[in-house]
Amino acid sequence: MYDLKVIVIGAGIGGLTTGIALKQAGYQVKIYDRVQELRPAGAGISLWSNGVKVLNQLGLGRKMAAIGGEMNRMEYRSHRDQPLSKIDLQPLFQKVGQRPYPVARTDLQQMLLDAFLDEPSGSGEVHLGTKCTAVTQDESSATATFEDGSQATGDLIVGADGIRSVIREYVLDKALSLRYAGYVNWNGLVPADPALCEANNWVLYVGQSKRASMMPVGGDRFYYFFGVPTPIGSHTPPEDRREELAQHFADWPEPVQALIRTLDPLDSNRLEISDIDPPERLAKGRIAILGDAAHATTPTLGQGGCQAMEDAIVMANYLVTTNISVADALMRYEKDRKPRTANLTLKARQRTDTIYGKDETITQDWYNQLQHEQPDAVIGALEKIITGGPLR
Ligand SMILES: Cc1cc2nc3c(=O)[nH]c(=O)nc-3n(C[C@H](O)[C@H](O)[C@H](O)COP(=O)(O)OP(=O)(O)OC[C@H]3O[C@@H](n4cnc5c(N)ncnc54)[C@H](O)[C@@H]3O)c2cc1C
Repeated sequence: MYDLKVIVIGAGIGGLTTGIALKQAGYQVKIYDRVQELRPAGAGISLWSNGVKVLNQLGLGRKMAAIGGEMNRMEYRSHRDQPLSKIDLQPLFQKVGQRPYPVARTDLQQMLLDAFLDEPSGSGEVHLGTKCTAVTQDESSATATFEDGSQATGDLIVGADGIRSVIREYVLDKALSLRYAGYVNWNGLVPADPALCEANNWVLYVGQSKRASMMPVGGDRFYYFFGVPTPIGSHTPPEDRREELAQHFADWPEPVQALIRTLDPLDSNRLEISDIDPPERLAKGRIAILGDAAHATTPTLGQGGCQAMEDAIVMANYLVTTNISVADALMRYEKDRKPRTANLTLKARQRTDTIYGKDETITQDWYNQLQHEQPDAVIGALEKIITGGPLR
């Protein structure tokens, strides 16, 4: 289809990647976000090879490589500092044709925003401070209404408005409850230091149904995260978070203690992790959802952002390559993406339960398995996830 006018709600990873892909198709794209200033929640993200391949396809591979960290190995150690496994990731890169890039979220968001604004094809605008409150459609157009009463009309609306999506409610004709995954995640960035973690290594300390981890992101920094099973509804102000982590991870190995001493608690994030059940639909007529709006998932496979990127190019491809109607192209998008994203959401959920001790026997078995895990099996499992996407 030619000359489409697209309204995108949400300027996160999903909305911006969609905006770039649709502008490259020559479309007119307007992105609306409720925030006054784009500031991603969370400090870092591991963009696995399937996400990086999307960026390569959009012509952003070099820019991604410039801001990403070099992660060549993945190492598990116990909370008593026993080595459990250390896997060279080079064979994975050889199999899938592209390395992953851990990256600081602000760097990724800025790179995507610049790419959207600088893209010479099509036309594009980003409107901040515009909270979408409702969407409607008729036979020839779709309209978004914002909190201040203003409206935007286009040929289609893409709901990239995150886990608490308003557009999802319209598409599904009902609200979906968030499902608390049973644990809290703390994350942030610290300067890279060999006393914390070997260079180019992703280290994960696991034990007592908790984990503590560091990975290299660009700019000589480590992205760190901690996870601890916690009843829903807990709060800790930033200034108390170092003490909170020190208690949860007392007696864990020295690099974890050094990380807790080094991190800036005022610059840390503390999140209760939730997902949603895979929804029945991803589109209704001219209005579709993508990214976390469509399939918010627990982060234990590191695939949420990657899936948002896959959604973006799959949707763009159907809009560009088919010519029946916008609704028809969005139906094809839904059919394509539903099984892939539902499968990964449920897989991540199961992995979360294993890691965070939903059944302690299963968690203990997993710790035992880690010591005997064959690198080929781990590489094979990662390869399957990566090559299950649209860009093999
Ligand atoms: C702790 C943690 C670690 C993670 N690690 C990884 C990882 O390693 N790898 C990976 O691939 N993924 C990871 N993820 C998942 C990834 O962060 C998300 O899947 C991704 O950010 C989703 O992008 P999105 O654009 O769909 O949604 P969001 O990033 O949530 O963006 C939604 C945007 O919509 C805006 N918005 C919301 N409502 C409205 C409205 N009504 N009107 C206008 N604007 C609105 C918001 O302001 C926001 O800017 C992780 C997630 C978490 C929580």
